[in-house]
Amino acid sequence: MRVFNFAAGPATLPLEVLEQVRSEMTDWRGGGMSVMEVSHRGKAFVAAAAEAEADLRRLLAVPANYKVLFLQGGATGQFAAIPLNLAAADSTVDYVNTGAWSKKAISEAKRYAKVNVAADEAASKYSTVPAAGSLALTAGAAYVHYTPNETIGGVEFPYIPATGGVPLVGDFSSTILSRPLDVAKFGLIYAGAQKNIGPAGLVVVIIREDLIGRARAATPSVWDYAQMAAADSMLNTPPTFGWYFAGLVFKWLLKQGGLEAIGAKNRAKAARLYGAIDASGFYANPVAKEARSWMNVPFTIPDAALEKTFLAEAAAAGLANLEGHRSVGGFRASIYNAMPMEGIDALIAFMKEFERRHG
Ligand SMILES: *Cc1c(COP(=O)(O)O)cnc(C)c1O
Repeated sequence: MRVFNFAAGPATLPLEVLEQVRSEMTDWRGGGMSVMEVSHRGKAFVAAAAEAEADLRRLLAVPANYKVLFLQGGATGQFAAIPLNLAAADSTVDYVNTGAWSKKAISEAKRYAKVNVAADEAASKYSTVPAAGSLALTAGAAYVHYTPNETIGGVEFPYIPATGGVPLVGDFSSTILSRPLDVAKFGLIYAGAQKNIGPAGLVVVIIREDLIGRARAATPSVWDYAQMAAADSMLNTPPTFGWYFAGLVFKWLLKQGGLEAIGAKNRAKAARLYGAIDASGFYANPVAKEARSWMNVPFTIPDAALEKTFLAEAAAAGLANLEGHRSVGGFRASIYNAMPMEGIDALIAFMKEFERRHG
């Protein structure tokens, strides 16, 4: 039986896409073999890869002066690749700290450049984002990095920070493709695939062309944006299955009407779940209302001793992976694009029933 999977990542994938993958598993595009068994340099795969890129460009309306790269090493690999490609060793880079993923990006960047923390939301226990216009930016910084959606804390920027012309870098791992995005406001956008794009093993980088070609000599070739862009992301064997799968997810999104349509659905899903939490005196979400994530919804109950019971009963009801991140406890419902409204409704019904019995 398929369950509603609220995991933060790897996360639920669209059932329609999974079924298509199953139907093509042993004979992809009439070649008599699976997509995992064909050459990445063969005509069929090269065409599928180009189609995936074109569909992603269409979804996000990526301007012509941006390259789209399909890389490996996850978002964590990019934590290093970004300073290696965009900043000289003696330059300063600005980072905004809004929680767990910001912190990881900052500690990795510190190995490669001087990091100025332009804002730190510690005072609110990372339940807020900095006020627009409040960042303490460095004149001449190589770039400004922020985490638009903190997957663990469930904290999301309701605006795109202004940087006065300094390239803006965003870790969109848990929020890419959840609604329209003005790509032109960014120097670089990156996203690990395993939340809103497809299976783990692929990271998508969207980079403005003028930022390509500045990598330090010691940058690994597979993370050198210039080398990867020149090779259409096939300097070496790419993650072919992930790329193919991502392409099917892009088509699934286009078929639903693109990011305007999916954004409206996501807004409604989040509003319904936060509404249920706020209407109850039993459940609580700690995040400032204007900074609440559409994708990751943490919540707590008054008696932590009941958490195990909640999780066990939820799992028995077909609601999987609701435990909060090990660093914060409580619960977290990740409700990415592939989570249907029926999943939200089933979760809310379960929460109400649980409150009736234990509240
Ligand atoms: C999951 C996640 C990461 C880490 O991704 P990996 O692919 O495991 O390296 C980084 N940033 C954010 C915002 C994430 O949600």
